[in-house]
Amino acid sequence: MGETRGRAVVGVVGGGQLCLMLAEETRRKGLPYDLIAVDPTPDSPARPFLQDQILADYKDHDAIVRMAERADYVTFEIEQANSATLEGLEKSRKIVHPSPATLRIIQDKLTQKTFLRSKGLPVPDFKPIGNKDELLAALKEFGCPALLKARTDSYDGRGNRVIAAPEEADAALAAFNGRPLMLERFVDFAMEVSVIAARSASGEIRTYPLGENIHTDNILHMTIVPARAEAATQKAAEEVARETLNALQGAGVFGIEMFVDKKGEVLINEIAPRVHNSGHYTIEACKTSQFEQHIRAITGMPLGDTTLLYSAVMVNILGAPDIKGPYLWEGVDGVRQIPGAYVHLYGKKESAPKRKLGHVTLVGVNDPAYRDGLIHRAEHARRMIVQKAAKK
Ligand code: AMP
Repeated sequence: MGETRGRAVVGVVGGGQLCLMLAEETRRKGLPYDLIAVDPTPDSPARPFLQDQILADYKDHDAIVRMAERADYVTFEIEQANSATLEGLEKSRKIVHPSPATLRIIQDKLTQKTFLRSKGLPVPDFKPIGNKDELLAALKEFGCPALLKARTDSYDGRGNRVIAAPEEADAALAAFNGRPLMLERFVDFAMEVSVIAARSASGEIRTYPLGENIHTDNILHMTIVPARAEAATQKAAEEVARETLNALQGAGVFGIEMFVDKKGEVLINEIAPRVHNSGHYTIEACKTSQFEQHIRAITGMPLGDTTLLYSAVMVNILGAPDIKGPYLWEGVDGVRQIPGAYVHLYGKKESAPKRKLGHVTLVGVNDPAYRDGLIHRAEHARRMIVQKAAKK
């Protein structure tokens, strides 16, 4: 490039809320990096904190290459990033983390589960499904209900369908319209949990405490930390997270989502090769946030301390069911007055039903006795924030 630059540049595929918080935390902690991002939305959430935004799709090969030419380190905040392009960059000796090979494995749920099982990691039973006969045979083996999942390009449960009886096979296959599929045994879980874990470029691994996740309509509603789980379950989940990171290549922060079944056994649901919604609480509740940690990991710095300083409850603020387009918030100042309440609004210009528009984290004394009160207060804070449609 030839131009003189004072600071190293981190290039991010995706300029949404995760990139916003990466950039905010980089600045807040005084890390010596500027961020640039590729994102198709003008004025993306991260834009005010970026050195520059390249307006293009996450899969746009040329745009990602142009960004990489200006960056010392390349990373991504979304799984839909173009893994072939990132692989090419890595071959031409660009530093790309997490490894594009890992991204490729994770982008296909069947490949991901096959990989995890091959490493001896616990996953629910699953089978690839190519046609109706295979589906009926798998339903017979796993029993009903079972989950039919689109293998690729599905998130927040949008590619999942519960099959309650074999008679539903035709309708379920038709609904997926030829997309590659897998069937998974239904896990009658007692709790959903996640571990945020980081791996440095030199292979050091650190984990954050177990978070308990409550989903509504397949979208994360609340994360409670520490999870209301037995100590043995917490230990088992942490061990699974560590082994998962040992099995995967590359540096960075990963979100490992798991089920805890009724016997207390831990099964991996899925891996996110990026900072994760269930780790937002780390901004206020941990010595090092997942966002600072990710930047540290991918730029070759030593990892920060993951100690939990407070109990925390995070609630997502989603777009109202009846609002599409511009919007306003009411009640935010009231929540900001509450001691221990931290409001994050992502500045998205347009709302859509259930779109992730912000979150609130409530922190309190790190003692299980106070946790239920914290859950209550977090829910109350969320309800105080009201969305209104605005004129275009
Ligand atoms: P996914 O998008 O595959 O992570 O799934 C979204 C949500 O669907 C999960 O958070 C679970 O609540 C539910 N789910 C996914 N897979 C299973 C399963 N095998 N058994 C029971 N529930 C599941």
